[in-house]
Amino acid sequence: MLEQRRLGRTGALVSLMGFGGIPIMRVGMGEAVEVIGAALKSGINLIDTARGYGDSERKIGAALKTHVARVFLASKSPKRDREGLLEDFEKSISALGVETIDLYQAHCVNTREDFETLMGPGGGYEGLVSLRSQGRIRHIGMTSHSSEMLKAAIGTGKFDTIQVLYSLIEDDAAEEVIPMALEADLGILAMKPFGGGCIEAYDIALRFVLSTPYIVAIPGMCGVDEVRKNITVAEDPRPLTEGEIKQVAGIKENLGARYCRRCDYCQPCPNEIPIAFALHIPSIRKRVGEAMMKTDAYGSLYEKLKTCDECGTCEERCPFHLPVKDLIRESRAILSEVLE
Ligand code: SF4
Ligand code: SF4
Repeated sequence: MLEQRRLGRTGALVSLMGFGGIPIMRVGMGEAVEVIGAALKSGINLIDTARGYGDSERKIGAALKTHVARVFLASKSPKRDREGLLEDFEKSISALGVETIDLYQAHCVNTREDFETLMGPGGGYEGLVSLRSQGRIRHIGMTSHSSEMLKAAIGTGKFDTIQVLYSLIEDDAAEEVIPMALEADLGILAMKPFGGGCIEAYDIALRFVLSTPYIVAIPGMCGVDEVRKNITVAEDPRPLTEGEIKQVAGIKENLGARYCRRCDYCQPCPNEIPIAFALHIPSIRKRVGEAMMKTDAYGSLYEKLKTCDECGTCEERCPFHLPVKDLIRESRAILSEVLE
């Protein structure tokens, strides 16, 4: 039996582990429906997806048709303007085959400029409020890789949930973002509990997140076996033992030398390369699969990466001393394989 947790001021009681909708992009419709069905039958009652996750919303919609129990449904739009966000919402409900969505989130608001556009006149936040006042969504959330932007969102008092990077390799949120969100009674969804596929010790990684009583982890899953493995861990979310805490230190040390924390301290790159995005290409390939990467977004990233002249400015600025130039070269090689 999965523990239920209160998702902050939404008041919703949801399973401590939800279903993250990215990896089902990699499998066919039949398999995706089977995986989602297995997750729901095992007691998961929260599904998180997004407009930007390929056909994920459509697959989730198909799976929900055969499931009678109540599911807390969350999706997101990357649009920052009111009209764009409202158009996205219509596409979301049509793909999901539902009339209302419990939680609609402004997706990946990572820069100050993005945040100000979202919250400003004619911005996406107005769209979210209008959907809520019509009863078409119940709650408003924001997701971001940036602690600064999450703190800004919490500070407005206008959001019900945040979605934050939180794993044993990316635990900075524990310092300020999570305590602030708790103080404001926001629901906290933890994305990428396996560090975007970089952490192999899945049981320790998942328990690291789930043993925090107020957090709901949303690992992506695309196989029935994976669902079963994660459910077994989630059914017993005991804190890590001393031995496991030492293991975590070892994992951090091994991964740390090459793991990008998406903090953007290396910016600005003189050639405007989105370094953090580029450095996560290996894990993105694992999670979303090569077929889903044949898009303009990855094509333009590839073109940008070709402009890296190895000036080394990013390496001087990176507080984690990552070999950014090497990592950029590796990501460029992956994109060349995938796109050419
Ligand atoms: S080494 Fe490449 S990625 Fe780094 S700052 Fe210079 S141009 Fe940008
Ligand atoms: S390369 Fe370093 S500074 Fe840049 S985002 Fe990654 S961890 Fe942060």
